[in-house]
This record gives sequence, C-alpha cells and structure tokens, in this order.
Amino acid sequence: MNIENKLIYEGKAKKIFANNNPAEVIVEFKDDATAFNAAKKSSFEGKGELNCFISETIFKYLTNQNIPTHYINSNSKSSFIAQKVDIIPLEVVVRNTAYGSICKQTNIKPGTVFKEPLIDFYFKDDDLNDPLLTIDRIKLMGIIEQEELIVIRELTNKINLILTEFFSTIQINLVDFKVEYGRNHNGQIVLADEFSPDNCRLWDLQANNGNIKSLDKDRFRHDLGDLIEAYSEISNRIKKIFISST
Ligand code: UDP
Repeated sequence: MNIENKLIYEGKAKKIFANNNPAEVIVEFKDDATAFNAAKKSSFEGKGELNCFISETIFKYLTNQNIPTHYINSNSKSSFIAQKVDIIPLEVVVRNTAYGSICKQTNIKPGTVFKEPLIDFYFKDDDLNDPLLTIDRIKLMGIIEQEELIVIRELTNKINLILTEFFSTIQINLVDFKVEYGRNHNGQIVLADEFSPDNCRLWDLQANNGNIKSLDKDRFRHDLGDLIEAYSEISNRIKKIFISST
C-alpha cells in the first residue's frame, strides 16, 4: 500500500482505501472486534490477518465455482484488492440451524435444523440497529428492484450450498452467516464485504459429547474462550485441506 492510498471509509472491523486504479479499492482488516452494535468492543492481535486469509480463501473458492465476487487479488497479510462497489444496504443472513436472534424473536428452539435454509434481510443501518425487513418493506423502501432481489436470493442459496460443503470438509457446521452485495462499475451485482468468523457461526463437528463448540465471534460476544485460538483453528483446517487447490 502506498502512503498516498487515501482512506475512503472506516468500519468497525475494516478500512477501505483508494487504489491507484479508480475501479479498485484496498480492503484492510483490523484487529478490532465489536458486538451488540458496538456496545461491546475489544481488539485481538492477529485477528485482521486471520480474517483476511479466511475471507480471501473463501472468495477465491467461490469465484472458482462461478460466484461473482468483488475480490481481485491479494495485497498484504491483512489486506486484499477488490472491485470498488456501491454496497446495497441489506445484510443478507442465511440460517441452516436456529441460533442467535431468531431464537429470541420466535419460539424456535436453538439448534433446530431447518429443512430449507432461511434467508432473512436486515436493513444495514446502525442508527436503526439493523432492523429485520420484509420483502414488501424492501419494495416500499425502494432499496433494490424485485429482479435484483431474485438474483441475490439465488446467489445466496448457491453460496450456502458451496460453503456448507466447504466447511463440512473441515469438520465444521456452517450454522448461519451474513453476506453483503454491491454493484460494480458495470452495474453487476457481486458478493462484497468479507466472509470470516466475524460474520458466521461455525460449530466444531469434532467437539465432544454433542456440546456446541463455537469457533466464531460468539466467543467474543458471550465470553466463550480465546477468539484467536478459534480463528486460528479455522485458518489451519482450511490451509490443510484447501490451500493448494484454491
Ligand atoms: N451477523 C453479522 N452482522 C450483524 C448481525 C449478524 O455478521 O450485524 C451474523 C452473525 O455473526 C451470525 C448471523 O449473522 O452469524 C446471524 O446473526 P443473528 O441474527 O443471530 O444475530 P446475533 O444474535 O448474532 O446478534
């Protein structure tokens, strides 16, 4: 990264810098962690590099499976080069197993395995605390066209199938995850943001006696143990199985 790379945006866990090519940006992962809309904050040395590696590997893997993503190339241990996109203000959450907010908002019991994955849309707005949306509200708010919503649903379902398989290969249950999409300079909808243990629930299938062992940000949210140990475990399992084939 050059000294002249201008900071365009700073989020809770990432910084976005301009690149020399105006159609590109540099995505830099921070060590910071936040939870509960930043009510809980901390920093973990090495988290940025781990999340960068995990995200890059997953973006490359998805690209190889014909999923359009913003990922272009690696840059440093904690940053990669991506297409500059306009982020669509939707947090798209896929749930394979019930956990977290859905169990607080409904009578669905934690750990219930869904017959079909559930896709929930949240409005990406910290001031409003990212409220859950309905399809009709998305239409009413004019966030995206109906056809684009269909594209996003299809991509999200495909990503879920690919990554459920990816994680099961490394003995991880992909319980749920959040993704974001953006429009690139051609107007194409591409997967953007990141895919890391900050944004998904990963349960260790090697855990003893059927207990839930979280290898994701729930460690930080609910003080379940060392976060770096969990993220390193994910990274190491990925390296063992996938790194030569991605
Ligand atoms: N998630 C996220 N960012 C958010 C909200 C949720 O990445 O602002 C992820 C979260 O890590 C989990 C999934 O989306 O993997 C579902 O989260 P849930 O709705 O259960 O919210 P939580 O109870 O975790 O706040």
